[in-house]
Amino acid sequence: EWNFAERVGRVEPSATVAVGNKASELQEQGVDVVDLSVGEPDFPTPERIREAGRQAISDGHTGYTASSGIPELRQAISTDLKGKGVACEPGNVVVTPGAKQALFETVQALVDEGDEVILLDPAWVSYEAMVKLAGGDLTRVDLGQHGFDLEPALDDLAAAISDETQLLLVNSPSNPTGAVFSDAALEGVRDLAVEHDVTVIADEIYDRITYDADPTSLASFDGMAERTVTVNGFSKAYSMTGWRLGYLAAPEPLVDQVSKIHGHSVTCAPNFVQHAGVEALRSVESDVATMVEAFERRRDLVVDLLADHGKEIPKPEGAFYAMIPTPSDDVAWADAAIEDAHVATVPGSAFNAPGYARVSYAASEERLKEGFERLAAEGLI
Ligand code: PLP
Repeated sequence: EWNFAERVGRVEPSATVAVGNKASELQEQGVDVVDLSVGEPDFPTPERIREAGRQAISDGHTGYTASSGIPELRQAISTDLKGKGVACEPGNVVVTPGAKQALFETVQALVDEGDEVILLDPAWVSYEAMVKLAGGDLTRVDLGQHGFDLEPALDDLAAAISDETQLLLVNSPSNPTGAVFSDAALEGVRDLAVEHDVTVIADEIYDRITYDADPTSLASFDGMAERTVTVNGFSKAYSMTGWRLGYLAAPEPLVDQVSKIHGHSVTCAPNFVQHAGVEALRSVESDVATMVEAFERRRDLVVDLLADHGKEIPKPEGAFYAMIPTPSDDVAWADAAIEDAHVATVPGSAFNAPGYARVSYAASEERLKEGFERLAAEGLI
């Protein structure tokens, strides 16, 4: 009889992974599944980055690095952040194997048993799990009733936040909604965070994938540098999901604490991957622009296809996801979508947003059209 730690009982396996497994199972049976559930770009990693990774291996960059990352990469990241108006020196940066690890370590360093953490719903699946593993208590502010926008929900946030609040998580551009929060919304967050002395995690992993709006980094607002942990990564903008590379940038006292967790858990991010990361920040903006153009065409296509079936959705302004309204039992809807239409989506409940399903448009225009035709044929849209 196993005697597991109580903390693992507090969390469920990732819903997005579960959908992916179901899609793979059907595919193994020979079923042609249109997979709109994935959270990764469908482009290869740009060749310059792959070459830099190969070169780094050839050059022998295969041992441990300094725990917080190689100096060239920490420098490149701090320069990149300064370009976004964020005060950041290399010593403020911890390079991690993926943004997920950066978030995990930050939550571990800040959240004690019973501490209050605020999430803006719909929220990415892993935030809740990370907070629960740390023993934190969740307070949730629903942006769903405000078209997924934060500005009209600031009063709700003001009502939820207090001097007891330890941490607020802000993710813009958002997974799963594609919303990009305006400067006015972020200023509202700043005012509340300063008033109640709250630390904020700004998960900006999709900040290079935007269409209509250019998002501002939360840490660049007056009063925020000293209370913001900026998290970002290479998975999405540079199509590097499997390389596992991300980072956090934070004030030094927090970096000191996070570094203990980092050093005792992962030691460092993979050496040659960090070298590839330097190349990503140095040279591939045009590849990023090409990918973003493709995502923008698909975004427009998804919005049009839904409108053709009488479903108007707010136009996602960033990332590569859209939330489509479903009947209230979104889990049953998503089950029918995969079982009957062979279209994989993620039920909104996974993001604490029942009555929606998330579709990823990291898929070709042809597959998107096919997917929506199938959903329509089954009466699902
Ligand atoms: N944050 C958000 C909002 C995400 O959607 C993801 C990936 O799906 C991550 C963080 C983690 O990305 P990675 O660990 O691949 O850098």
